[in-house]
Amino acid sequence: MSDSLTITNATYLDVPAGEYRRGDIRVVDGVIQQIDGGIDGGIDGGAAPSDHPRFDASGKYVLPGLIDCHVHVTAVTADLAALTEWSPSYVAYGAAKLMGEMLDRGFTTVRDVAGADFGIHDAQAEGLLRAPKVFFGGKALTQTGGHGDSRSRGQHSYDPHQCCAGLGRIADGVDAVRQAARDELRKGAHHIKIMAGGGVASPTDRVDSTQYSVSEIEAVVEEATAANRYVTAHAYTGRAINRALRAGVRGIEHGNLLDDESIELFLEHDAFLTMNLVTYWALQDEGRKYGLSQSNWEKVAAVLDGGMDSLHKAHGAGVNLAFGTDLLGGMQRHQAKEFAIRAKVMPAIDVIRGATVTAARLLQREHQLGVIAPGAAGDFVITDADPLADINVLADSRLSAVIQDGTVVKRY
Ligand SMILES: [Zn+2]
Repeated sequence: MSDSLTITNATYLDVPAGEYRRGDIRVVDGVIQQIDGGIDGGIDGGAAPSDHPRFDASGKYVLPGLIDCHVHVTAVTADLAALTEWSPSYVAYGAAKLMGEMLDRGFTTVRDVAGADFGIHDAQAEGLLRAPKVFFGGKALTQTGGHGDSRSRGQHSYDPHQCCAGLGRIADGVDAVRQAARDELRKGAHHIKIMAGGGVASPTDRVDSTQYSVSEIEAVVEEATAANRYVTAHAYTGRAINRALRAGVRGIEHGNLLDDESIELFLEHDAFLTMNLVTYWALQDEGRKYGLSQSNWEKVAAVLDGGMDSLHKAHGAGVNLAFGTDLLGGMQRHQAKEFAIRAKVMPAIDVIRGATVTAARLLQREHQLGVIAPGAAGDFVITDADPLADINVLADSRLSAVIQDGTVVKRY
């Protein structure tokens, strides 16, 4: 007999429509098979055998499982330079803990944009790891001295061995970036992440720098496209964002300092912007405590102010906005707070769309993730209160249960 679960008397969110509907939701072998309408005509009153597992959602709100499109599950410390020297097995245990906590917050799927590999993906898929489903890009490609180069100025050697727990790999020149992209794709990467501009948590670059030549970016895009995958780029400033989008990059990570031309390019290319404002809030508050150096801490202020303004502008223009957090180390516990920060400049339903339907489109899993409809994964977040009326229901993780692939994985 196949595994099944019926969520009865559900008030569930039709995310694309932005409306609640009523019905009984039947999940078979992890996939929504059928939704029968109404309290009276539902599966509950119909033919479902009484011994089938049920979840009574009377009086509760049922949402699709949440998707965080910018995490680093192996960033068990904010000191990313130290991470490269840690035991990979130790880091994997740390990642397992962080990922279990993400699942408890309702994130049934995450996109890891540097660090996670096929081992973490397979462990989750095979049931060895209680965690969100993982879409990964392997190690991010960085130029020498770029955002993914964790060496200090006085440090020369760099061990690029794939088993090291760092988040980046250095590749310079068209041939080398092509080979690095092919290597990550060989290992199963769902996307390729490149560092196309300066960052906050890196020792030798500046936020206002651009990184990689246009020809290098185009070479990576060509390789990813050939494999039916896509490239997403770390970039803060309009200058860095715009050249990446023109070179064919499909996603921009951060984007805090975008300009008007960036918005036109996002729309023209149907590209995705994944901001992560909570990380600047958290870095300011407690980054030093979790290992962020003083000089990196000072970069945070420069990108914090622009973020809210850019999000507001991008939302108004209709840019594809995916939900992301980018938290490092112990700060990852603030993940859900991103919902409340975004809701200051956009409606709650659009914040939720960023963590469901829009995220699924970015992951190339439209209709399979991020919606409650027949054929989609049986991933749900169940709350006692209405998150459209009060987004803090999600921001404070005031959840009733989390269901992943038709299995109740957390009950509060
Ligand atoms: Zn990141």
